Amino acid sequence: MNQAAPLSLSNSKKNKQVVVKWSDADIKILSHQRLRGACPCAKCRAARIQGKISLVDADVELIAMNPMGYGLQMVFSDGHDRGIYPWSYLQELGT
Ligand SMILES: [Zn+2]
Repeated sequence: MNQAAPLSLSNSKKNKQVVVKWSDADIKILSHQRLRGACPCAKCRAARIQGKISLVDADVELIAMNPMGYGLQMVFSDGHDRGIYPWSYLQELGT
C-alpha cells in the first residue's frame, strides 16, 4: 500500500496519455480518458457505482498533474479537478 512515487511521469497531450515509469522494467501508459473515468473523488466513485461511466467524454484531456506528496491531483479539460490519485491507485490502474 505504501507505494513510492514513480521515477518519472510524462503527460503527452498530443497522444492524450500519461507515461508512468515506476522502474526501468515497469513502464505504464494510461490514457487521459482512462484516468478521467477512474477519478477517485467521492462524486465519481458514486457515479461509477450507478453505472454512469459513459459520462466521460472520449476527447477529455488531462491538463495538469499537481504533486500532492502521496499522489497526484489531476486537472481535466472538462473542468474536473477533484480527484487525487494516490501512487498505489495509479499503479493499480496501469496493470
Ligand atoms: Zn472525480
